[in-house]
Amino acid sequence: MSAYAAGIATLDALGLAAALRRREVSSPEATRAYLDRIDSYDGTIGAYLHVRADDALRDAEAAQRTLDAAAKDGSTPPPFCGVPVALKDNLCTKGTPTTCASRLLAGYVPPYDATAVERIAASGAVVLGKLNMDEFAMGSSNENSAVKPVRNPWDAARVPGGSSGGSAAAVAAGLAAFALGSDTGGSIRLPAAFCGVVGLKPTYGSVSRYGLVAFASSLDQIGPLARSVADAEAVFGLLAGRDPHDATTVDRPATAAAPRIVKGLRVGLPREFLTDAVQPEVRDAVRRAADWLAAEGAEVAECGLPAVEHWIPAYYVVSSAEASSNLARFDGVRYGNRAVGYESIAGMYMKTRSEGFGAEVKRRILLGTFVLSAGYHDAYYGSAQKARAHIRNGFDRVFADHDLLLGPVAPQTAFRLGEKTGDPIQMYLQDICTVGASLAGIPALSVPAGFDAQGLPIGLQLTGPAFAENTLFAAAGCIERAAGCRGRFPDLGAAASAAGAGR
Ligand code: GLN
Repeated sequence: MSAYAAGIATLDALGLAAALRRREVSSPEATRAYLDRIDSYDGTIGAYLHVRADDALRDAEAAQRTLDAAAKDGSTPPPFCGVPVALKDNLCTKGTPTTCASRLLAGYVPPYDATAVERIAASGAVVLGKLNMDEFAMGSSNENSAVKPVRNPWDAARVPGGSSGGSAAAVAAGLAAFALGSDTGGSIRLPAAFCGVVGLKPTYGSVSRYGLVAFASSLDQIGPLARSVADAEAVFGLLAGRDPHDATTVDRPATAAAPRIVKGLRVGLPREFLTDAVQPEVRDAVRRAADWLAAEGAEVAECGLPAVEHWIPAYYVVSSAEASSNLARFDGVRYGNRAVGYESIAGMYMKTRSEGFGAEVKRRILLGTFVLSAGYHDAYYGSAQKARAHIRNGFDRVFADHDLLLGPVAPQTAFRLGEKTGDPIQMYLQDICTVGASLAGIPALSVPAGFDAQGLPIGLQLTGPAFAENTLFAAAGCIERAAGCRGRFPDLGAAASAAGAGR
C-alpha cells in the first residue's frame, strides 16, 4: 500500500473521488485500504453485518477501467467513481444479504436493488457491504440489533446512536467514505451526532423509498451519513428525485434552488430545547454555533416551538401503528426464515414471528396493533393524527418568519452501552428533538459542532421548511468551518482497549 493509501480514510468522499480522478490512487488500492481497515477495526466497532470483499474488489476494478477510459478520452467519470461506501442493511441489494439485523430475515437475499442503491451504483461508488442497525430500524442506540451491538468509535464503551448506528460508526471510523442510512424519527441524525459525522434526513418525498424495508411509511426517508457537509449535499443530489416506483416522490421544486448564503438567514433557537434537561455543553454548543451564524450575517434569536410536548406520544403511536401493518408481511411464507415444528398454519405464523422478532419489535407491533384496534382507534391513532396536524401547523407558523431552526440533536452526547436498555421510555426520549421534523415531513440535518469534556462529539440539528435542504447545507457549512472538527479522528486503538475494559 502506498503512503497515500494509508491516509485515504481521512479524506471525505469528494476528496477521494478527486484523488481517484487525478490518478493519485487507484480504486482497487482505495478499496483494499478500506477492506484492510475493516479487517483491523471492525472486530471492535461491529459496524458491518456483511462485507462484500471479493465483489467490492471486482467492482473497484470495473470502476478503475471507467476512470482510465475517462482519463484517456477526456470525458467526466460519474461523481463517486471508485469510492468505497456502505449501506444500511434495510436497503435491498440484489444478490447481497439484506437482514435488517433481524433473525427473521437472516440470510434473506433480495431479487432487486432499492432505487437509492441503483443511484449509488450509477454514481460509480463501490459498495463495501451492509451495515448494522437496530432491528427493523427500531431503536436509538443500535442495541436492538439481533446480531451484535455497534460501539462508538470515540469511546467503545458507548453507543453509536441508532438506528443507523453501523452507518455512523463506519463513516466516523474510516470504514466507509460515506454511508446511506434511513431516518423515521431520528435514525440518521442521532447516530450522526453521537459519532461526529454529518447526517441528513431529507424532506419526505424527495428520496425514493422503493426497496427500503418499510418501518413507518409516512415517516421513512433514506439519507446520507458523511464526513463533510459537501459530501452529504452531493449524495443527497444523487438520491433525490421522482421515482415511478414510489408514488410519494416528487422532483425537487424550483424553490429548492434557494439561498446558499448564511447572510440574512433568519435563524430561530427553540427555547424548548435549551432547558436544564439538556447537557450544559450541548446548550453551549448551540449558542456558540448561533454566534458563528450571526458572524456570517444571519439574524439569530430565540423562539418558541408550538406542540413540542406532543411530538413523542404522536410519533410512537403513528410509527408503531404503521409498523404493525408493515411487518405483517413477515409471516414465514414470503420472506426470510420459517420456524420448524409447527402444527397448523396459524401455529407456523406464530412460531415464526415469536422466534424471529426481538423484544423491541414485538413491543412496537403490540402497541401498534392496540392503537389501531376497534374501540381504541379514535382515542389513540385518531388523536395522534390530529396531534400530527397540529405539529405541522406549529412548524408552518414558525417558518412564516424563520428560514431555519438550530438546536440539539439529542439531550446529551453518546451514553454507555446498557445504560438505557432496561427502560424503553428513557430510550424513546432520546428522540425528543428529532421526531418533530419527521412528523412534519421537513428536512433536518445533524452537523458536528465540537466535543464535550469527555471527548465525545456534539451534534447540532438544523431544521428547515420542506425542500429547504440548500439552506441547511449553507448553515451547516458555516458551522463545520467554524467548529473545525473535520481534522479530528477517533483513536481506534484506544477504542479497542476501552471495549476490552467495558466487556
Ligand atoms: N428511535 C426512533 C425509534 O425507535 C427512531 C428510529 C428511526 O428513525 N428509524 O422509532
